Amino acid sequence: MQKQIIKLSEGCPYSCAFCFNGKKDFKEYPIPKIKLNNVILHDDAFLSKENALKVIEELGAKRINDKVIYYEILQGINKKDLTQEIANALYKNRFKKIRFAWDGSYSKNNMYKVLDCIKFLTKAGYNKKSLMCYILSNYYVSLPESMFKLDSLKVKNIPVCNCRYKKNYLDPKVYPEHWTVQEIDYFKERCRWHNQLIKFDGFDSEIAKRLLHLRNTT
Ligand code: SF4
Repeated sequence: MQKQIIKLSEGCPYSCAFCFNGKKDFKEYPIPKIKLNNVILHDDAFLSKENALKVIEELGAKRINDKVIYYEILQGINKKDLTQEIANALYKNRFKKIRFAWDGSYSKNNMYKVLDCIKFLTKAGYNKKSLMCYILSNYYVSLPESMFKLDSLKVKNIPVCNCRYKKNYLDPKVYPEHWTVQEIDYFKERCRWHNQLIKFDGFDSEIAKRLLHLRNTT
């Protein structure tokens, strides 16, 4: 499927310490000509646009040969910018695969921010399994704490994406920064299991196959 990539803003006003996108000079751009029915928004912080609601509605009203357009915000949305009104507009205007992040610690406050985000999105109409929560690994939040975050999201049926921290984002290789190599690998595997369990309603046939193999070889 062919997809058009557009950019309606650049940088992010929030400047998280681990992120290369955060810039103080947040720039906004007008909507370019839409040429395809599937469009990727390559913004770092799309919802931080001053008139985000209006832009979502303008994008949703566009048609190509009378056919609707589907949108995807590749870098995800910032929970701080999400309201029920915005969530409703995203759903109504066909923004697919909504992603958000739980980068901070495992605290009640942080968990409730994530739960609020899920509540807004599901109330708007999104299926939980179509959402995705980024979890930052290999950073200051430890592996045990990240495992608790994973557990909370499992209870809520939300798939995850393991974002491994890198000092140099241009280097494709991940180096152990705040976690060991073993911790990085373990968490990667647990995130995969997490998503399999959610996708298959609690049963991962791959794990069952491995267990059977173990039983037969020991
Ligand atoms: S992690 Fe997200 S909110 Fe933080 S600076 Fe990067 S783009 Fe902005």
